[in-house]
Amino acid sequence: MERDKLRVRFVVKGVNTEFVNALRRAMLAEVPTMAIEDVVFFENSSILHDEIIAHRLALIPLKTDLDSYLLPEECGCGSELGCNRCRVILTLSVEAGDERRTVYSGDLSPDDPEVKPVYDNIPIVVLAPGQSLKLEAYARLGKGKDHAKWQPVSVCTHKYYPSVEVYSERCDLCGKCVEICPKRVLAVEEDSLKIVNLLNCTLCEDCVRACPKNPPAIRVSPVPEAFIFNIESTGSLPVDRIVEEAAKILEKKLSEFSQKLEELG
Ligand code: SF4
Ligand code: SF4
Ligand SMILES: [Zn+2]
Repeated sequence: MERDKLRVRFVVKGVNTEFVNALRRAMLAEVPTMAIEDVVFFENSSILHDEIIAHRLALIPLKTDLDSYLLPEECGCGSELGCNRCRVILTLSVEAGDERRTVYSGDLSPDDPEVKPVYDNIPIVVLAPGQSLKLEAYARLGKGKDHAKWQPVSVCTHKYYPSVEVYSERCDLCGKCVEICPKRVLAVEEDSLKIVNLLNCTLCEDCVRACPKNPPAIRVSPVPEAFIFNIESTGSLPVDRIVEEAAKILEKKLSEFSQKLEELG
């Protein structure tokens, strides 16, 4: 497993393609995050229409607190703009004065400091001297299946775990496979062909086609029931929380499904 604050790459073994695809879809479409849904404009003398600014605001990733807020459909308030259990209000009030002024995501001030923009430096609009922008934005939890602004991941892919075999009795270390490999998986070191970066292999088979030997001295194949996940968070949620939540969602869906089957007899 490799990880940093926003990215993780891990291997899953003993599962089939359907399972990893269901997990991927749950991360993309089912794990909720906060995003701006409604905007009330008090003043907008900028060059951009209200709708464009509202759209730009909606795409700003917000830090999400899944433990303190409810999805609007799960909250009993029934209010159009939500209550303090299902929404966060972010206010913005910027006047350009005598100089041109760019309005950034960092100018949004949330009523819950835990639900703030992930990055402060996302430009929203440039105000000319004398122009102003004043608004109140309502952020809610939502799911990627309803709008991409609620997706917690900017990358969520999986691929087969590769196996690369070298037949040293046929290999004369010509290096053709090393040269052609787009992912720098192979290297000739100490009189042998080494696999130096296995997880980067995409199973493209360029190395096999480039090998002048017949049959080729190198073979690549997917390892059965093993996959490499590559996930990048937008910053709304920690990357391990995204995986955890997706697994919980899948588990819940499966138990609901089996319960329904039992009811049908
Ligand atoms: S299959 Fe493609 S990526 Fe993998 S080692 Fe061969 S050339 Fe490189
Ligand atoms: S191209 Fe074939 S013979 Fe040449 S180094 Fe690679 S595996 Fe060996
Ligand atoms: Zn509510």
